Amino acid sequence: MLVVMHKEATADDIAHVVRVIEARGYSARPIQGGERMAIGILHNRGPVDPNWVLSLPGVKEVIPVTRPYKLVSREFHPQDTVITVGDVRIGNGSLVVIAGPCAVESEEQALTIARHVRRAGAHLFRGGAFKPRTSPYAFQGLGEKALRILAKVRKETGLPIVTEALDHTVYDLVEEVADVVQIGARNMQNFTLLRRASHSSKPVLLKRGMSATLEEWLMAAEYILEGGNPHVILCERGIRTFTDHSRNTLDLSAVPVVRKESHLPILVDPSHACGRRDQVIPLSRAAVAVGADGIMVEVHHRPEEALSDGAQSLYPDQFQKLCEEIAPMAALYTRALKPGIAVGSPKALAST
Ligand code: PEP
Ligand code: MN
Repeated sequence: MLVVMHKEATADDIAHVVRVIEARGYSARPIQGGERMAIGILHNRGPVDPNWVLSLPGVKEVIPVTRPYKLVSREFHPQDTVITVGDVRIGNGSLVVIAGPCAVESEEQALTIARHVRRAGAHLFRGGAFKPRTSPYAFQGLGEKALRILAKVRKETGLPIVTEALDHTVYDLVEEVADVVQIGARNMQNFTLLRRASHSSKPVLLKRGMSATLEEWLMAAEYILEGGNPHVILCERGIRTFTDHSRNTLDLSAVPVVRKESHLPILVDPSHACGRRDQVIPLSRAAVAVGADGIMVEVHHRPEEALSDGAQSLYPDQFQKLCEEIAPMAALYTRALKPGIAVGSPKALAST
């Protein structure tokens, strides 16, 4: 339930409402809206009778929240959340491009790819240090060594870093280096990891589990907000279906539905969705057209030698072409770009 305060409500009125809510055994979460304050009631099991709140000084109205997720819902928070990472804003209506290899393999590999993607117009660099692999015999990532390489990449290129925390035991190490901490599809319901992410001040990129409903996904995001970290970016990365022409099926319909249900930014990862290089560019275009806040794409300068996900990694010149193709599309389909600003230019983003 959401308790909406009058514009004229005083700080004392708000504090009083919070005390009354807490005295009933619930928790109260003040939320600053555009014009007025609202107070969310959390941790209630079952519907709350609004009458005891309605009579309190300063209370305007009470809005029942119909969804199981609260803090991530538009009912609680109607305005879009915008996440700031360095000069980059995610969720403000411009299009954000995250690019890089699946895994950091060496300093030379990471720097080479980072220079390419930066030149083409990427805003953030991605690269796994700790890799979730289906086979225990597959390359598991360089771990801490990769984190040191990622720090160098940021220093040299200025690109903020997105990298995955595979479990809560490595979270401290990862958040020290990462500008955005990724929680992967296989970990979307790793509740220990979600709780750890909720105590971090770093933004979290939360991928959709490969068999997760939108409600399960948003409930996973709710864990992070409930624990105190409001900086969550959602990422659709394909779900398991019966198809065998692609690794997964990109659920583009998730984008408008999530946008309606939640104020959190939503990205699309076409690389893991399809698993095949030839599908990445068309699916990226579709992601822009459907209204995603950005895309995350795997790029490798020698994909045939990549230690993971080479088959879905774009060559640098393909990535460059992709950036050129989506620039005019972003001007058409995204919400806040000013005419004449080139998508893909870090300067353009900084000025929005
Ligand atoms: C990745 O981004 O490299 C990755 C492993 O993604 P996902 O968790 O979506 O499979
Ligand atoms: Mn990958």
